[in-house]
Amino acid sequence: MQTTNFSISSNEPPLWHGQLALAACIFAACLAGIFSRPVGFLASFWPANAIMLGLLLRHPAWARSASTWALALLTYISADLLTGASVFVAVILNIANVAGVWVGWLFLHRQSSEVLHFQRQRSVLVVFTGCLLASLSCMAVGAWPGSIAFNLPLWRSFFLWFSSEFYNYILLIPVFLASPKGWLWQWKCSITQRSLANVLPLLALLVSEAMSLLIGGPGAIAFIMPAMVWCAIAYGVFPTTVLSLLVCSWKAASLFLASDAFGFAPSNLMESTSYRTGLALLSLAPLAVACAYSLRTQALRKLNHAVNHDFLTGVLARRALMERGQKLLTRLEEEGQQVAMLMVDIDHFKAVNDRYSHSQGDVVLQEFAVLARDALRPEDLIGRMGGEEFAIMLPRTTHDQALLVGQRLCERLREHVFPLPNQDQMRITLSVGMHSVSCIGPQDSMEHLLSKADEALYVAKNSGRDQVRQYGPALAPSAI
Ligand code: GH3
Ligand code: MG
Ligand code: MG
Repeated sequence: MQTTNFSISSNEPPLWHGQLALAACIFAACLAGIFSRPVGFLASFWPANAIMLGLLLRHPAWARSASTWALALLTYISADLLTGASVFVAVILNIANVAGVWVGWLFLHRQSSEVLHFQRQRSVLVVFTGCLLASLSCMAVGAWPGSIAFNLPLWRSFFLWFSSEFYNYILLIPVFLASPKGWLWQWKCSITQRSLANVLPLLALLVSEAMSLLIGGPGAIAFIMPAMVWCAIAYGVFPTTVLSLLVCSWKAASLFLASDAFGFAPSNLMESTSYRTGLALLSLAPLAVACAYSLRTQALRKLNHAVNHDFLTGVLARRALMERGQKLLTRLEEEGQQVAMLMVDIDHFKAVNDRYSHSQGDVVLQEFAVLARDALRPEDLIGRMGGEEFAIMLPRTTHDQALLVGQRLCERLREHVFPLPNQDQMRITLSVGMHSVSCIGPQDSMEHLLSKADEALYVAKNSGRDQVRQYGPALAPSAI
């Protein structure tokens, strides 16, 4: 997975901008919830609390001001009052809403950024616990007044509060936590980069849902699970959270529309709450799979990079250079293209270590690698053969062009000033051996090209260093 940047930019707008945006979101979400509820009963769909908690977790600075909480409570109450609720209902039920958000915030904002943003194996468990605590708190505060306000047995009121809160938290909070900065742009890119294969998990999901509608019955709720797991593996954490939200909302809505049995009315409270709690819990499985799979992919990518690259300079390690170079050579041979190989060795490097320390020698090697990479094209390969010796493979490059590249490297290093800790400076030089092949044949293996370039390097060293020599019958000096 791409390295995800979750940090919020330091030049954030003033706090009151954020508070107003939060209040606007809460108000809109409250209205959506209020209009979905049966007359005189609790809302069947109440996203306001989860949206508030999600926004606060994305913008912790907002939550640190008491005025944010006061404004949020006022917004909740005014939305209820404006839509005809009594003052008792508006005040007491919304205190319960804000209490749930507050407990969820207290638990979740203490978690490390990695845990919170699904970069750890235990992330799903932690987010689940946060949602559970928020729902239980909301239930603890709101169930009793709710049972009085809606004339409901207390135990039913407990169950109703809990399941409604849990459903909304568990589906919405992961969306807020998993969405990286610039996710829309990244998503667009990944869609254009990949092909039809990328759409197959989504198609499987649609087919599974169609089957569950067609066949129906109590098991139909789980028909989508294999396709959801496939989507989780194929798309990663954030798209999985969005898909879970969409699928569960659709499932809840379609059943609500299809039959009254699952409507969130007092008469069928237990069926509907059980169904939606089941849906919310089912959504955790694909999320856990997406999280584990993306962590595994990241670990493999890091491991792969460590194996194939030199830890000090970041260029290819010797074995990776040999493998990739050989593959490239085969391709160039098929295309009838030319290739050139440079063997590069820093002059008197031992003296750098002896005079300025081994760690200063390491800095020289690192700076040389950056300098060389800058002087090359993206398709050129550069690898560290050992010590202060590097090999550079230049595909589709003529003899003269390769000489120029070698000379450019020599010039750049000659002119480069390496600063030393005591305000001193150091300059170093480079010797290069070059071998080019205009028509690659079966005998031109990586080993063969490298040994010829190495012979030319030997001559460059013996001819006074700081120069490029090309392999040839007479190992002629190149014109610098
Ligand atoms: P020449 O001009 O003939 O190439 O001389 P040289 O001193 O550059 O070559 P020599 O082979 O005598 O010495 C290479 C030195 O490079 C010896 C070794 O200690 C040092 N070296 C090898 N690997 C590393 C490394 O990773 N870091 C540092 N700082 N030094 C290294
Ligand atoms: Mg050397
Ligand atoms: Mg050497």
